[in-house]
Formats: sequence, C-alpha cells, structure tokens
Amino acid sequence: MKLVTKYGLPPNVIFCSKCLMSNQRPVSATEFKHNINSKKLTMAFDEKGVCDACRANEKKNEIDWYEREKELIKLLDKHRSKDGSYDCLVPGSGGKDSAYQAHVLKYKYGMNPLTYTWPPILYTEYGYINWKNWIEVGGFDNVTFKPNGKVMKLLTKLAIENIYHPFQTFFFGQKNLAPKIAAQMNIPLVFYGENEAEYGNPIADNNTSLREKSIFAAENLNEIYLGGVSVRELQEKHKLSIADLKLFLPATIDELNKSNIEVHYLGYYLRWTPQEVYYYAVENTGFKARPFRTQGTYSKYNSIDDKIDDLHYYTTYIKFGIGRTTYDGSQEIRNNHITREEGVALVNKFDGEFPDKYFNEIMDYLEINPDYFKTILTDNFRSPHLWGKDENNNFKLRHNVMLTGLND
Ligand SMILES: [Zn+2]
Repeated sequence: MKLVTKYGLPPNVIFCSKCLMSNQRPVSATEFKHNINSKKLTMAFDEKGVCDACRANEKKNEIDWYEREKELIKLLDKHRSKDGSYDCLVPGSGGKDSAYQAHVLKYKYGMNPLTYTWPPILYTEYGYINWKNWIEVGGFDNVTFKPNGKVMKLLTKLAIENIYHPFQTFFFGQKNLAPKIAAQMNIPLVFYGENEAEYGNPIADNNTSLREKSIFAAENLNEIYLGGVSVRELQEKHKLSIADLKLFLPATIDELNKSNIEVHYLGYYLRWTPQEVYYYAVENTGFKARPFRTQGTYSKYNSIDDKIDDLHYYTTYIKFGIGRTTYDGSQEIRNNHITREEGVALVNKFDGEFPDKYFNEIMDYLEINPDYFKTILTDNFRSPHLWGKDENNNFKLRHNVMLTGLND
C-alpha cells in the first residue's frame, strides 16, 4: 500500500550518512508564497547518501578565506560612510549571530552599522537580556520595529491553524522588513549571517554573497499569502486593510531596484562556526546562554529569544519528522564538535520532546485551545508516510535515525 505524502515530501525517508538530517528537510522557501497547497522543495542527497548541507560544509575547507576577507574589505571600503552616517544595517535579535555580525563590522572593519530588531512574538527572559546587552555592552544604535500587536497575533494564529507554522510572522519581519527599512533610510548594505545553503538550500546558492531578491521582494500582491491566507481574503474575511498588512508584505522589486541596496551574507566572507560565534558574542556583547537546556534539544545558546521558537521546532518534527535536536546535532557533527553516534543518542533522547514550558502561555496569548492544538490540529499535519500508530494507538515515526521506527 502506498502511503499518502503531504507537502510534496519525498515518499522514501533517507538519513544522511554523515549527519542526522533526513531527505524530508525542506529548503527554506519564499515565506510569503506559502499556503497549504505549497509543494516543498527538499534537500538534495548525493549518490553516496550525503546531504547538501554536509557537502557545503566540506567545501568550506577548500575556500581561501583570506581572499574572501579581501573581497569583504573591498565591498566595505566602497560603502563606508565618511561623515558617520549609517552605512550598513544588521538585522537581528542580539542573539549570537547578529551580535557577532554587528560587532566585527563596527570594531574590526570600521563600519557604522545600525542594528535592526523585529522583536520576538513572546520574548524570553534571556532573549530580552541579550538584546539589551547587544545594544548596551556591544554599543550600537538600534531600531526596534514593533508591529501592530493585533495584526501580529492574528497572522501568527492563522499561520498555526492553516500551515502549522508558528514562526512565520517572525520570518516576515526578519526577512522582508529589513531591506525595506534600509531602502527608506538610504543605508546601502544589509548583512545577514549565514547563507541558508549552509543548512541545505541548493549548493549553488552558496556561490554568491548576495541574497536572492525573490526571498524578500515580490511583484504581485495576488501571489502573496500571509498565515497561509491570500491578501484578498485577509481583507475581505478578516477585515484587515492594506495599511494593516503593509509591514508584513515584501518590498516590490521595483522599490528595491530604485534604492540600490545590496543584501549580503557575512558568512560568505568570513568563516562561520556557530560555537565560535557564540564565544565571540559572550566576550564582546555580554551574550548569555540560558542556564537550562532548551526543550526539544540539548543546546543552551541557540535561538533562545522567543518562547514560540520551541513550538516552531515541535511543528517541524510533526510535519517533517525533524526536531530541534536533529538540526542542532547535524550542525555540530559537521563542525566536528560531536560524533554522529553521539548525535544519534541525543536525537533518541530529546528530538520531538513536547515544549510544555511556555506552551499554555502561548496558547493563551493566541487564544487557541491547548487541547485542540495538541490533538486535532497537530494530527492533521502528520503526513501518513512519516507517522503510523503503535500497538498502544500512539503516533510513532515510521522511520528515525536510530532505525527503531515503526517500519524500520
Ligand atoms: Zn548531512
């Protein structure tokens, strides 16, 4: 019997022979085109069973990083302001990556960065401290753009109910709004950290430092979906105006072309090792890891700003069978911090753990019934080719990296 596959995922589950990742991992998509009928592009594996993210990481060893830094300096020399006005925008939360980016640009390369924050949907205590330290200890000007809370809440709720994607509204602000702000403020450069290819987008994406415009710009309002709902339906059914939605909508390619801003990945120019970036942020911007482990993984310092983040990784576990430990462990295996065997043991222990710490607070905030979320809503997003039921009638993955799944 052929099992139904949702989201256009590959019907056969394969795990990378080097890391923990499976071939069900979607490559990051253009967020504002995402609706329930979207077919996911997933990460490619080569004939040896190794994933694109592992291959991209191996390629880092062949890169002449000295040459790449020279390219960066050339770019910065071209744009560095002489009168102290902002010459680059660094979007971020003050987490380890944005802390590192802003700090090296200012203190090592003499740039005049403005930092930009699209705040978390629900700040964690440590997320707020790290944001504050970034600005106060690191020493940066910051624009925090807090969106209309009513609209934010509605779009986040719709994204959960329609596409089971609690973090989508965060991505809108992080990916779409930064270039718009830079364009409006005449800041010529925007720097993101790592290219998505590091984590499995097509490797060809890694050959450029420039961020593909289609990620953050669009031509046609009719092709845009927020929370899985078309802009027209948001206007008609949910009574939102274009003004309500404007902040969440991407810039038009025309708007961006007019302003000549360039969006770059700093990770193209400087070798990016998350653990080293973490140490750098601790030392230079007062970054603090949480003293406790994040639910769903073993890590304490990665992406800890938003209470909804924990739930986000739970939803990737349900939709793709890939939880937060799989993401964290795979990255650490690639950087030789842990072995694959250790990674497999960690997945066995923590992947897919239900994030109950902030769960009720999130449901309360979004006005979603917690029992409804845990049962009907969640089960609706399980793809039959990934999930079956065990003898106790509990859902269980058919395949996992330990090879102990229902059908392994
Ligand atoms: Zn891999």
